[in-house]
Amino acid sequence: MPLVNAKEMLTKAKAGHYAVGQFNINNLEWTKSILLTAQEMNSPVILGVSEGAGKYMCGYKTVVGMVEGMLEGLNITVPVALHLDHGSYEGAKACIEAGFSSIMFDGSHYPIDENIAKTKELVAICEEKGLSIEAEVGSIGGEEDGVVGAGECADPDECKMIADLGVTMLAAGIGNIHGKYPANWAGLSFETLAAVQEKTGTMPLVLHGGTGIPADMIKKAISLGVSKINVNTECQLAFQDATRKYIEAGKDLEGKGFDPRKLLAPGSEAIKATVREKIELFGSANKA
Ligand SMILES: [Zn+2]
Repeated sequence: MPLVNAKEMLTKAKAGHYAVGQFNINNLEWTKSILLTAQEMNSPVILGVSEGAGKYMCGYKTVVGMVEGMLEGLNITVPVALHLDHGSYEGAKACIEAGFSSIMFDGSHYPIDENIAKTKELVAICEEKGLSIEAEVGSIGGEEDGVVGAGECADPDECKMIADLGVTMLAAGIGNIHGKYPANWAGLSFETLAAVQEKTGTMPLVLHGGTGIPADMIKKAISLGVSKINVNTECQLAFQDATRKYIEAGKDLEGKGFDPRKLLAPGSEAIKATVREKIELFGSANKA
C-alpha cells in the first residue's frame, strides 16, 4: 500500500480511544524494524523524521525512496504515514516537495501571531496536496536537534486558535520532555490536557517525548484525547543496549560476527521489541 496521510488513522484513533505510535527513523534498520512490527501487529504506524535525521539519511528524497521501496518490497499493507517531526517552515516545504505524506510545523518558538500565520499558510498547501499537518503550541522540553527547552504547559485558548486553522493534529505541551526524564520530573499536567481537549473537541492531540512516561500516565493521556504518541529515544536506548551486549560478549569476534547484517541484528530485534510493546500499550494493534 502506498503512503497515506495521518488523518484517517488519527480520526479513528480519537474516536476509538487508542493512540497511533510515531516512531522516529534513523536508517534502514530502524525503518525496516518498525514497518515489519506494525505489519505483524496489524497496526497503523507513523514514521517520524526529524530534520537532523533527514540530513543524516542524505535528504528527504532519499528517505521517501527508501520508505516507498520498503512498503513494496516488504509487502506492507497496514496504513503508513511518513511525517516530518518538528519541521521548520522551510523544512516543511521541502518535505511536501519530496513526497512526505504528513508534516509537523513547529512554530511553538514564534510569538503566537507568527505561529498562526505560518501554520495557516502550510495548512492551505497541505490541504491542496492531500497531506496531514501537525502544529505545536507550548514548547516541549528537553533536547531535540540541539535545541533545549523546559517543558511548558500550553495555553488552551492558543490551542483552540491553532486547531481552528484546520490542522489535522495538535501537539500541546503538558509538561512532557524529549529524551530521558529527570528524576525530579513533575509528571504530565492532566489538568492542562483536559482543558486543551475541552477547547479543541475532536482534534487528535499529540504527546511528544513518549520515552519513559509511565504506562498509567500514557493510558490516562489517551483517555483525555491523545491519539498520537511520539517515541524516539526509547528505540535508540534499546538498540544501544543490545548492540553493546553483542560486542561485550565478543560475538563480533566469532566467525562472521563482524558482518554488518549480523552485527546490527540484535539492535534491530530490540527496536522491534520496543515497538511491539508500545503498540500494545497504545492500543493500536489490529486497528489497521
Ligand atoms: Zn517532539
